[in-house]
Amino acid sequence: MTTDVVVVGAGVVGLSTAVCLAEAGASVAVHAAAPPHLTTSAGAGAMWDPYLVHPRQRVDVWGASTYTELSRLADTGVGVRMALGTQQSRTVCDPPEWLDVLGGRLCTPSELAPGYRSGWRYRAPVVDMPLFLEHLHNRLISAGGRVATRIYRTLREAAEAAPMVVNCTGTGARSLVPDSSLTAVQGQLVVVSNPGISEFFCDDTPDSEELTYIYPHSDTVVLGGTTRPDVWDLRPDADAAEAIFARCAAVDGRLRGASVLGHRVGLRPARPRVRLEEERSASKGRLVHNYGHGGAGLTLSWGCAREVARLVLGGSTADLPGGTAR
Ligand SMILES: Cc1cc2nc3c(=O)[nH]c(=O)nc-3n(C[C@H](O)[C@H](O)[C@H](O)COP(=O)(O)OP(=O)(O)OC[C@H]3O[C@@H](n4cnc5c(N)ncnc54)[C@H](O)[C@@H]3O)c2cc1C
Repeated sequence: MTTDVVVVGAGVVGLSTAVCLAEAGASVAVHAAAPPHLTTSAGAGAMWDPYLVHPRQRVDVWGASTYTELSRLADTGVGVRMALGTQQSRTVCDPPEWLDVLGGRLCTPSELAPGYRSGWRYRAPVVDMPLFLEHLHNRLISAGGRVATRIYRTLREAAEAAPMVVNCTGTGARSLVPDSSLTAVQGQLVVVSNPGISEFFCDDTPDSEELTYIYPHSDTVVLGGTTRPDVWDLRPDADAAEAIFARCAAVDGRLRGASVLGHRVGLRPARPRVRLEEERSASKGRLVHNYGHGGAGLTLSWGCAREVARLVLGGSTADLPGGTAR
């Protein structure tokens, strides 16, 4: 079978891109060093939240499109749940522009956690990433796509496999492209048993050096987090884990009795702006980049996938799976 497109990378960005292309009729193969369950994406929290990612205007469009797609998938057994919750700040500040679009509202004083002075309440997708990645993988296979283990040293090597290559390699792009503007922003999470929490909480205090968030899944709660620029170490830090637990328990006292089930460390692929474009100078075949999604790979995944499909296949995004953006 001839392959029209090789997507390099099997994280949420690569798999979404491959699904979008395959469902639009292309013959697609995903080639990746790590399988979906061993990617950064598999370890993410994960919630729809445009965090640590630029540029604003394109992020808004990609984020809205992904929100719509994730809402459509909610409660269909693929790891997506629409949850109510709040984002709160220790200072008085304005809500993000997307709050209105999502039908959210400002918090009442009684909804603010101790020490918080402003906040907003809205509904957003909370995603069990291993389950969701499995869904994308199965969806790709159903649409005729294939997944294989391949480690590329250069994108030129990938160009031998198909006339079109889409580069979705996350932090791997730093050496593969190469792209020195891409760096890792290390993040650590603590997974605990769920003491009965169903609403998410996220600290959005401007310029805060600490992250505090609570993402409830069915039996577990993911507690965050840390953000350490240019740290490539994947070992969990015991002091950081203790501090994350203490910050989250101060917000929701029910967590004090929760058991710690595990620790996760991942590397956010951060870049001054997401790179989603065709590289015209590619010597052989066509090359489209789709990497550098920072702390928002899930949040932007479907919107970016649809834009890549439009670049690769031509035509209007309205013709592609997922319909028009919200
Ligand atoms: C602690 C933490 C919490 C997070 N929480 C959220 C959240 O709540 N919401 C959200 O939207 N985002 C969140 N993120 C960010 C999100 O995880 C990333 O933006 C996202 O995983 C990036 O996806 P990706 O597919 O680009 O990269 P990855 O998931 O890293 O996948 C990259 C793929 O490329 C492959 N690859 C790399 N180099 C090569 C090579 N040379 N040859 C072949 N294959 C290669 C890898 O093997 C892998 O398959 C979080 C991140 C962290 C660390």
